[in-house]
Amino acid sequence: MNHELKSNSLVSVLAPIYNEVGVIDAFVSEVHEALAGLALPCPFEMVLCDDGSHDGSAEKLDAWAARHPDQIRIIHLARNFGHPAALSACIEHARGDVVIVMDGDMQDDPAAFRGFIEKWSEGYEVVYAIRTSREENAVLRLFFWLFYRMLNWMARVDMPLDAGNFGLMDRRVVDCLCRMTERPLYLPGLRAWIGFSQVGVSVRRRARYDRRSRVRLMGLVQLAMNAIFSFSSVPLFAFRFVGMLVIVPSGLLVVFAVMRKLLWGAVFSPSANLLVIVLFFLGVNLLGIGIMGEYLLRIYEEVRARPKYIVDRVVGNDARMPGKDGPQ
Ligand code: UDP
Ligand code: MG
Repeated sequence: MNHELKSNSLVSVLAPIYNEVGVIDAFVSEVHEALAGLALPCPFEMVLCDDGSHDGSAEKLDAWAARHPDQIRIIHLARNFGHPAALSACIEHARGDVVIVMDGDMQDDPAAFRGFIEKWSEGYEVVYAIRTSREENAVLRLFFWLFYRMLNWMARVDMPLDAGNFGLMDRRVVDCLCRMTERPLYLPGLRAWIGFSQVGVSVRRRARYDRRSRVRLMGLVQLAMNAIFSFSSVPLFAFRFVGMLVIVPSGLLVVFAVMRKLLWGAVFSPSANLLVIVLFFLGVNLLGIGIMGEYLLRIYEEVRARPKYIVDRVVGNDARMPGKDGPQ
């Protein structure tokens, strides 16, 4: 079924921001101009989450909200909660019928908005950007290339290759996301899991203006682990598989050794061999415990059910706190 923007519709653009003072002005004005340039039949809003920045980004964002009080809303978190939590805050504070998610470092090109909205009008509920090129260093590119392929092979849902957060979601999809208490949010995975009709459009990913990612290498590893452990049980299965691979031949070997001793009275060579075998099994056990620990940790975090983020204050357009003094 085709979708249509009416005069009472709303388009939201969301971005998490952490210490981006050098680019905020360029970013907000570029996105604002792109939205104005679309000549939409309806209003639009920008929901920007300041994820505990301490470089003056917060003040710059507030100045933008003061300049465009009808269109810009800033969610200030109480501290740096990390990219997935900041993204959750944006999503939960957006009110649009159409919601576009992007990064706040100008790597995602607002020129893609038009294509996103066109595809949505054709009836798609999710339109995601497929990164045709990444102007990042070769190691990072290789990391992402491997990561997306490995995840796709392991995951229980079909996740599009080379698709990150940048994309558009229909209100129905956003409502489903808001109902999910799962943490941390891995948007490309959950978006694919929700379903409806989805389509990818090719978008060129620009270089980071300062070439210094705010997500550190450990953060990237954590992100990759979150994606894999939230959407796949292959690591657990792989452990069982390795276990069986080791247990079957070693079991046969033990039977053979016993038979050999009983029938011919011969014994196997020195205890060093035994030590190697014991160490090997110890390794397999530790690996298994480690993998189970990863799943356990996730269960623990869900059970603890802490909020994903704490909002300090909301500034600008419709500055109400969700669930407190207004609808979400
Ligand atoms: N970001 C955030 N909180 C963090 C780290 C990053 O809100 O703790 C924001 C950051 O300002 C940017 C987006 O998340 O707008 C993506 O971060 P980054 O560009 O560093 O990630 P990369 O593009 O390298 O994956
Ligand atoms: Mg970036």
